[in-house]
Parts: sequence; C-alpha cells; structure tokens
Amino acid sequence: MKYVFVTGGVISSLGKGLTAAALGALLECRGLKVRIQKFDPYLNVDPGTMSPYQHGEVYVLNDGAETSLSSGQVYETVIQKERRGDYLGKTVQVIPHVTDEIKDRILKGGEGVDVLITEIGGTTGDIEGLPFLEALRQFQHDVGRENVAFLHCTLVPFIKAAGELKTKPSQQSVAKLREIGIQPDLLVCRTDRPIGEDNRHKLSLYCNVGLDCVFECRDVEHSIYELPMQLAEQRMDEVVVKRLGLRCRPIDIAPWREIVRRLLQPKHRVRVGVVGKYIELQDAYKSVYESITHGGIANETAVEVVRIDAEDLETKGTASLEGLDGILVPGGFGTRGIEGKILAAKFARERKVPYYGLCLGMQITVIEYARHVLGLTDAHSTEFAPATRDPVIHLMESQKSVVTKGGTMRLGSYDCALTPGSRSRAAYGADAVKERHRHRFEYNDAYRARLEAAGLIVGGTNPQSGLVEIVEVKDHPWMVGVQYHPEFQSRPDRAHPLFGAFVKAAVEKSRRSC
Ligand code: GLN
Repeated sequence: MKYVFVTGGVISSLGKGLTAAALGALLECRGLKVRIQKFDPYLNVDPGTMSPYQHGEVYVLNDGAETSLSSGQVYETVIQKERRGDYLGKTVQVIPHVTDEIKDRILKGGEGVDVLITEIGGTTGDIEGLPFLEALRQFQHDVGRENVAFLHCTLVPFIKAAGELKTKPSQQSVAKLREIGIQPDLLVCRTDRPIGEDNRHKLSLYCNVGLDCVFECRDVEHSIYELPMQLAEQRMDEVVVKRLGLRCRPIDIAPWREIVRRLLQPKHRVRVGVVGKYIELQDAYKSVYESITHGGIANETAVEVVRIDAEDLETKGTASLEGLDGILVPGGFGTRGIEGKILAAKFARERKVPYYGLCLGMQITVIEYARHVLGLTDAHSTEFAPATRDPVIHLMESQKSVVTKGGTMRLGSYDCALTPGSRSRAAYGADAVKERHRHRFEYNDAYRARLEAAGLIVGGTNPQSGLVEIVEVKDHPWMVGVQYHPEFQSRPDRAHPLFGAFVKAAVEKSRRSC
C-alpha cells in the first residue's frame, strides 16, 4: 500500500484538490487502482448540514457518507471512545489520541487500492491543520518513508512592480512544513506564466526537492481536464511511481487526449439553462455543471450553461428560457424559488424543450404535471405546503416520527429497476442500476395510477420499497425526472448515461430550431 499526501501552502484555492485528482487520473492511466480521500480541518461533524454558501456542494458517496472527513468527526469519535472508557482513564490528548484516530482513517482509506491520495484541507501554518500534519509525520514513520510521497502545492506569484515571479512564499511554506517534520517530495507551483529554469533551480535548492520534482501548474486555458496532460508532460506520474517504487505499466494518456480534443473541437453547440437558487455560487451545483460537460464530451458538443435564478422567473417571467436547447432543475431544499422551478418545468413541457430534473427537480416535474395536466391546482409537496389537498410528494409513514435534522434522509446508494420501453432504460442500456440519494420526500404512490394514465410514466422504481425513482413525460421529446443524484456518478470519460441522453436531446432540439 502506497500513500500520497497533498498539502497546500501560501493561500487557499490553489487547486490542490484538482492536482490530487489529476495525479490520480494519471496513475489510473498506468493501470493502478487509486482512491482519493479528503480531510477538512473544520469542527462541523456533518458537512451535509452546512450551508452551500459555506461548503459548496454536498457530495454523497455510495455508503451515504457526505463529502469529506472533518476534524469534528475525528474529535467526536475520540470523545465517544473516552466516554465509553476505551482509554481506561488515561489523559486524552491531541497527541496521541487524535493523531491515532487520523492515522486510522488513512489506513482504512487505503484498504483495497494500490495508491491512496489524501488531501489535507486548509493551508500550512493554520492552527486547525496541525494535528493532521503531525499525524502525517507519524504515519510516514509508521509505514516507512519509502511508502509515502508528500506533494505540496504553493503559489509562485508574479509581482508587477518587480517584473518577476517570486519564490519566497513557496520557500517559507516549505520551511513551515519542515518545522513539523515533513519534507515534501514534489512541489507543485501554481503560476500564471512559465516559472523558468532559474526559478526551478532556486525552488529545488531552497525547498530541498529534486529538480525533476518541481512542477509548474499553469492556469489551464480552456478546461480543468487539460491538467492531467499538463502534469503528464512534466512526468509527474513517473516521479511518483519511482518515488514509491510502484510496479505498473507505462502511461496511456490517450483517453485524456481524446477528452481535451472533444472539448476543443466540438461538432455541435447547445445552450442549457440550469434553474436553481444558488445560481450565483461557483460551487453549489459543481457536479451538475461537470456532468453536463461530460454529457457534452460524450456527444462531441460544447454546452454553454446559462445560470437562471428560479426566483427571477417568478418576478420577471420566463423570457430567459426562450431559445434554450435544454432546461435542467437540480436538487434543493426549502421553499425559496419553488414556483419559479415549476414555471420552468411547465415551459419545458409545453414548448417541448428537453428537460432534466434531479431530485427536487423530479419532484417539481410531478407537481407541475399534477397541477396543469391532471388539474389538481393545489398539488404540492408537503415539504413546502404541509396542508395541501393533493400531496403528490410527501413523507412516507415510517419517516413521520423522525423530527431531528440530519440523519433522517434517504442517503447513499439504492437499487433502481428500470421500466422496459422507457427512455431511461434505453439510455442506461441496462435493466437495473444503482444511484445515490440525498432526500427526505418521496413520490406519493396514491397518485401513480392517475399520473401514469395522464402520461407521466414511471421509468424506474426501487425494487425493495416500490418507491418511484424516475418519471418521464410520454408525449415529449425528452422530459425525465430522477429522485436521485446521477451527477455524483458521472466521469469525463464516462458521462452518466442520462446526462449523455439529455445533451443528445438538446442537440436534436437545436437542429429542429434552425
Ligand atoms: N427537498 C427535497 C427532499 O428532501 C429534495 C432534496 C434534494 O433535491 N436533494 O426530498
């Protein structure tokens, strides 16, 4: 088992996660099995209940774990152990108890893969990050230096007045790491221009890393998917393979070359509107935006995403939806913007614009259909209108007694059996799939017969509970709502089938319009 630890210095937002992911992609291109893990040094125990303004998107894994491991979770475990008496009355301390817990999580994270890449959130020198860095120092001591590579990301800024790039911040942040007992093996320098041979030598000498271990990470020109190629050109994978003594085949970078080619030379162009309420935030729907790009890659199509604030549709009307080739309503919680999303679904249905609803976006499809096709004008979800006469989306009986927030959701991976003849079945090319969930409310089966008779057919159900997972509008080019989050299982080289099908429908729509 081999480990790569990714830390960051000087400032945050250096693209540490991206560097970690790109390195992972390169190692996978050598046939290695790689896993990524992230530690976040904040004290929240449940990142799932943090505001999107604070945390960005909440990513869900198959086992229902929501995004990264936080200090809060680590401390919570240590305190629970102390309460259980596991420490036999000893004084419980950051070292060794908290650091042991961190090391344990790293060991578990590495089970079953060739390489575990662990990213430590925050910046070197932060007080919060110290227990993690100390744990990493101990970890290399425990498992052997030859099994661990430290990759440190820093900033090499260009100072206009001096007319040159400066290496001092990088030197200082590496010095900070060395103070803790960590000597980086690879230095990844974020910069907006070539760092040049002189700076490379300087960084190598003063930061005590090999010359071939200083990497330049330039701002990518078009897409983040260019980064693996950029790092492969500098032979990052080779350095890591050598450093860790990994046995693997030579790199085959062809898949990434093809991804970038498709991005840079698309055959089609479409415009897709995403109607949400955190539209101004860069990261709130991160996976959704990326999955749309993946759908574009699969169809050799450049997709321009138009971000539409759901509340604007309520106050200013639907003019902003005119001319779009597709409309997507992502997941969400809370009443704000709901009516705007319903307007978007109505527009898409009536004007035959491809529509894709994710989680809340699927519930919106059902509410819209019930209101305007079945004529149930009061139809709603009990999340937003607890006393509605027609609760087409509701809580199941078994959920009603749960009152506390957090931990009450249908979280993680569930089976979905696809309906023969449905659009979803055709897109997946399979009879059954597994998809990740993160929601409380469900399609109300009491309305199923009426909705299906009126043309909102069921594309998939959960075989264990019978819950409806997919709805599709029969008399429409492509209108599909899914109760789950397909965006968490899409990859640049393997677009999620429904994102692929949605973009394909958008391309067909754009052809119809011209
Ligand atoms: N608010 C809805 C629910 O809890 C949808 C959640 C979501 O979109 N993730 O069921």
